Amino acid sequence: MKEFELTFDVHERVGTPVLGVEKDEPIDVDLRIQSVSEGVLASGTVAALLIGECTRCLDPIELDVEQTFTELYRYENDKKGRKKSKEIEVEDEDEDLHMDGDFIDLEFAIRDALILDLPINPVCTPDCEGLCPGCGQKMLELPEDHAHEQHDIRWAGLEGWDGLKGSS
Ligand SMILES: [Zn+2]
Ligand SMILES: [Zn+2]
Repeated sequence: MKEFELTFDVHERVGTPVLGVEKDEPIDVDLRIQSVSEGVLASGTVAALLIGECTRCLDPIELDVEQTFTELYRYENDKKGRKKSKEIEVEDEDEDLHMDGDFIDLEFAIRDALILDLPINPVCTPDCEGLCPGCGQKMLELPEDHAHEQHDIRWAGLEGWDGLKGSS
């Protein structure tokens, strides 16, 4: 068994549209490589700082994540005898990973570990109430009795203007 401590700088943003590791930010990986009969077992911890915005109030969010992963990379010659075309292998998510000569491609494992458990709708605080539809301010910072009059404020300046009453 071998252990490695690796730091990758991501060259393109990794994550979901609302939360991800920004370009040129580091991903730390504690990696354990173990030789097993079918190939190489790679397991470890992925740690990174995710940046995103609250899906309710659009405030920036920073989220430290640490995820573990375990992937088996089979020896290349296991591939022989497979009937599937390469194209199908790529599309099939359950497809086994394989070594490429002496190399293993950790990108998939790291991406998966980071992305799988991300919240789909991240929020700045669990009780974030988003923005007031009337004025766009954060609900939590507004007084409880904050309310807007029923009519649409965008038309307020036009009240009393005869043009609104129709031209009959
Ligand atoms: Zn929020
Ligand atoms: Zn308001």
